[in-house]
Amino acid sequence: MSVCKNVLVYSEDRELVLQLLGKGRALADKAGGELYALLLGSGITGAGELFGYGADMVYVVDDPKLAQFGLEPYRAAVLEAAGKASPGFILIGATKRGKELAARVAAALDTGCMTECVRLDIDGEGKLRAERLTYGGSTISTQVSKREPHVATVPARAFEKLEPSPRSGEVIELDVDLPDARVKILETREKGKGDLGLENAPVIVSAGRGFKEQGDLRLLEELAEALGAKMGCTRPVAADLGWMDEWIGISGRKVAPKLYVACGISGTIQHAAGIRDSQIIVSINSSETANIHDMSDYSIVGDIYTVLPALTKAIKEKVG
Ligand SMILES: Cc1cc2nc3c(=O)[nH]c(=O)nc-3n(C[C@H](O)[C@H](O)[C@H](O)COP(=O)(O)OP(=O)(O)OC[C@H]3O[C@@H](n4cnc5c(N)ncnc54)[C@H](O)[C@@H]3O)c2cc1C
Repeated sequence: MSVCKNVLVYSEDRELVLQLLGKGRALADKAGGELYALLLGSGITGAGELFGYGADMVYVVDDPKLAQFGLEPYRAAVLEAAGKASPGFILIGATKRGKELAARVAAALDTGCMTECVRLDIDGEGKLRAERLTYGGSTISTQVSKREPHVATVPARAFEKLEPSPRSGEVIELDVDLPDARVKILETREKGKGDLGLENAPVIVSAGRGFKEQGDLRLLEELAEALGAKMGCTRPVAADLGWMDEWIGISGRKVAPKLYVACGISGTIQHAAGIRDSQIIVSINSSETANIHDMSDYSIVGDIYTVLPALTKAIKEKVG
């Protein structure tokens, strides 16, 4: 059986912290340990709300050095908290920063790190057992962490947060001698037009290399306007052709709209990984054998240059 029974959770994303607490509570109860949350930053507020979501104890490291993300001070703070909580299990939100951090924390603790875990349980030997999405989410692998503390990263929405309840606990401020970050952030800027709010969009119409010229994207714009949709694209359209700023897929945005309309997109595994959670996928592709059709609820085998104007016209007529 696991010697260390406590669970420590951390993410810089508060919503994800609540989801980690939901899972962490179940793991701590099963192991017979306590659930610790860790908050890092400068000017931290609202630590107490975490008790209602399952935490027994909240560690806070509030330091100007943590105002912006830097691997070295963040890693030091997590290690300090881990030293105090003696966790058998450490769950870290699988954001970009969380993934960078988790690997380094695990290395410093001389243990492994299971990434992108969508299911977690403690097996009969007290080890952490995880189901992970692999190959861009097309398969699920089951892994068991051998060494304590078991470290896992967890993506957003993998677990539910608990309904808040009137619980209380202890907030403990940790005084950590933090190292300086080795990377200096010279400037931060708000995202401009690239931030399309794709993640929360209920309807997305998306362009692939089936579009021959940038100007042809007006066909997509017209459809987007008729549907009240956001526009997305595949990686080559953004990264190679530079027609849009951001793309959807394993290395881009992950989306979960009610309706995703894929226009001139082949449906490679890398793109599919980003749209898998869409409720309804409609594909328009001139090739009958394009992979996108296999994952679509509705397939139109046809030329986007004729289908898109017809579709837009029909929607406009319907909507009035
Ligand atoms: C490490 C790595 C990470 C990657 N990450 C991503 C990612 O996050 N997101 C992503 O999208 N890609 C990603 N890629 C790229 C990915 O492998 C594919 O190259 C890309 O998804 C293909 O984009 P596409 O469907 O637009 O183009 P293509 O594969 O070229 O497909 C174009 C499609 O358009 C159809 N078509 C052509 N003309 C018409 C027409 N007139 N009417 C209708 N259909 C037409 C064709 O039949 C074809 O199916 C990644 C690759 C690597 C190596």
